[in-house]
Amino acid sequence: MDIVKVLTELNTSFGPSGCEAPVREKIAELARPFADEIYTDVMGNLIAVKKSGKKNAPRLMFAAHMDSIGLIVTYIEESGLLRFGAVGGVNARNILATPVRFENGAVGTIGMDEDAKAPEIDKMFIDIGAASRKDAEKYVKCGDMAVYDTPVRALGDGSVVSPYLDNRAGCAAQLLAMEALKKPVFDCYFVFTVQEEVGLRGAKPATYGIAPQYAIVCDGTLTDDIPWTSHIGTSKIGLGASIKVMDKSVICHPEMVEALRAVAAKKKIKVQTDVLKQGGTDGSEMRKSASGVYTGGVSVPMRYVHTPQELSRVSDIEDCGKLMAAFAETRPEF
Ligand SMILES: [Zn+2]
Repeated sequence: MDIVKVLTELNTSFGPSGCEAPVREKIAELARPFADEIYTDVMGNLIAVKKSGKKNAPRLMFAAHMDSIGLIVTYIEESGLLRFGAVGGVNARNILATPVRFENGAVGTIGMDEDAKAPEIDKMFIDIGAASRKDAEKYVKCGDMAVYDTPVRALGDGSVVSPYLDNRAGCAAQLLAMEALKKPVFDCYFVFTVQEEVGLRGAKPATYGIAPQYAIVCDGTLTDDIPWTSHIGTSKIGLGASIKVMDKSVICHPEMVEALRAVAAKKKIKVQTDVLKQGGTDGSEMRKSASGVYTGGVSVPMRYVHTPQELSRVSDIEDCGKLMAAFAETRPEF
């Protein structure tokens, strides 16, 4: 599986929180050759099942959110400029002059009021080149969402720069795990969740529906390898799959942390440790679902998270996929 190609396909598909249908269709298409069954639940989570073939096998749920952050139109000026709000964690500092596109293909760029003292979403607008409100309304209405229309590019050192690596990189890793998985000892549920970016809203209903005994979240994690990060976490680009110990939303089950480390050592998969002082992941909802689920995490190290051009190392994404597949082929001792 060519990760850069998969990322390109996922990112040309539309999928901000709550509007995931196009990216869901694309993922379903990519997952179909490796799945015994694929279905969508009421929330919109896509669930691809790979069975162990054994009776009463324990259930293992993987979760990678497929939604991206986005912008939502709140007002159309007489002039035709579009005022907007944030869907998820958009930082105004990162988006000025960013090209954006709507689901129907309308495109624009982000501008800012002349009197704005500092970047602030309420002082920004999307310019789709319309001459008036009436003209703009031919293309866009209030409530429509837009996403960054920035490119996916492979860099010379094996890195990839792309919008929405958070968390299309996690989705790619899950697809890779499905492809690599030959003899699961669990009934595996690969879930591509919705609405993570607006508060982990898809993972909880999915967990209740599947009722797994074990769970692994695969999401991006911020790195501590550029000078201004102030040691917000422990992960670094290029050092392999980052085994989650903790972020602000979850403390992983210690047995899961150890089991993931043991599997990585046995299969010689490159791993590091993920402790992050910020952020939240679907792991939080899975961990405290029902009467509790053995939950761990496999994170993709990422720079410039939530900007229009995030950066990851392709080999780290591959290591995440390999580790998830190897875990699913190993009998748990707890
Ligand atoms: Zn994420």
